[in-house]
Amino acid sequence: MMGFWWRPLGVLASILLVALILWAGSGWIAALGFLAGIQAFVMVRRLWQEFRLSRWLENPDEVDPPDATGTWGDIFYRLQKLQRRQRASRSELSNALEQFEHAAQAVPDAMVILNRSEQIEWCNPASRNFLGLDCDRDRGQFIRYLMRQAYFLDFLDAADYSQRLVCKSPINREITLSLQLVPFGASQKLLVARDITDLERVDAMRRDFIANVSHELRTPLTVVGGFVETLADVRDLPASETRHYYDLMLDHTRRMQRLLDDLLTLSRLESDDHSLKDETVSVAELAQALKSEAESLSRGRHRISLRLDSAASLKGNLQEIRSALGNLVSNAVRYTPDGGEITLAWREREGEGVFAVTDTGEGIAAEHIPRLTERFYRVDRSRSRETGGTGLGLAIVKHVLTRHGARLDIESAPGKGSTFAAIFPAQRMQPAATASAAEVVPFPAREQAAG
Ligand code: ADP
Repeated sequence: MMGFWWRPLGVLASILLVALILWAGSGWIAALGFLAGIQAFVMVRRLWQEFRLSRWLENPDEVDPPDATGTWGDIFYRLQKLQRRQRASRSELSNALEQFEHAAQAVPDAMVILNRSEQIEWCNPASRNFLGLDCDRDRGQFIRYLMRQAYFLDFLDAADYSQRLVCKSPINREITLSLQLVPFGASQKLLVARDITDLERVDAMRRDFIANVSHELRTPLTVVGGFVETLADVRDLPASETRHYYDLMLDHTRRMQRLLDDLLTLSRLESDDHSLKDETVSVAELAQALKSEAESLSRGRHRISLRLDSAASLKGNLQEIRSALGNLVSNAVRYTPDGGEITLAWREREGEGVFAVTDTGEGIAAEHIPRLTERFYRVDRSRSRETGGTGLGLAIVKHVLTRHGARLDIESAPGKGSTFAAIFPAQRMQPAATASAAEVVPFPAREQAAG
């Protein structure tokens, strides 16, 4: 700052010196005239520079500060430096704002900034989809007037920042939201709404699943428990009755066993999501084995035939494929009344492999078909139980097929029968000539197969 004073003081001293010399040489009138001249010059210059400064101040962003020498030059130079620094920090600020804006737009959660009076100061685009708020339209509005649901107002009143409110989106009942209030700045609040629809769905599925499994196990357990109590309490039961109780207990124990086996198979399929074995599965041999199994399950009550229109094998996991196709075959036997026909067929269609099980059984109404592969979904619960069903067979089939890139196609008409077809993609097909006998996996007995 001292540097500022040196020059004007130097100039002042020089002027005074000249005035003194003039006074001494030419008298005081000449000295005063000189000083008045200098004064007039300084005034005119100052007016001019002030004019330039005020012209620049009117539009400081557009033009650079005026050029000048001396003290004014110094002032203009400092102003220019100040202006550059301001420009730089303004552009930094606007870059940061732009980045924040981009990030806020990319965030999948809805974010709303509320001021001390709960007026909307800002909100991101996701707020429109989840809360029905529009940043341009609703800025400055009281959020209580826009979201009037009692549960939301209670949530705002509670102002408990550790709590989350789980509720349906006010504009789309299909979306479940988790709302949270976060305090920040000077009495401001950030309202965050997260879409938890999928989490909720998974949670509901888990709850249903546990309820279903408990329910499925409770019935046979109650029956077995009841018989055990009877056998323990009543000493002299006739042998035939005792035999009958034992048979029923065995029945229910087997039912629990089947249920646990199916549950374990499902859980194995779910947890083992990568290492799919790539064995060569001879579908012709497998189909023969499945036909024999169907015959022993049917005990002569149905006509069972096999059509092999392709000699191709499959690449995949033998145990899993056997378990899936075995489920389709056993369903056909279980849901086809005596005297009905069941056909197992293996053929190729446009490069894909189709293993179809057709029956002339009771058939299924169209509204049930999309849900058949859900766990524990049955069209007729008691019919399924009577025939030893667990309600998990088609869920296992779907899992296995999905793991093999295959799909399940169901065609059915009530009273006419059904066709359940497992359709394998071309990549899983192995033409007959390329699968040498040595490569084909030897066929295990049914007891060793999964499912
Ligand atoms: P379940 O152990 O009850 O048979 P699944 O998952 O194998 O369970 O099958 C689900 C439901 O699909 C069955 O309860 C039954 O209602 C129906 N279903 C399956 N296969 C057939 C079929 N071939 N004919 C008629 N209904 C069938």
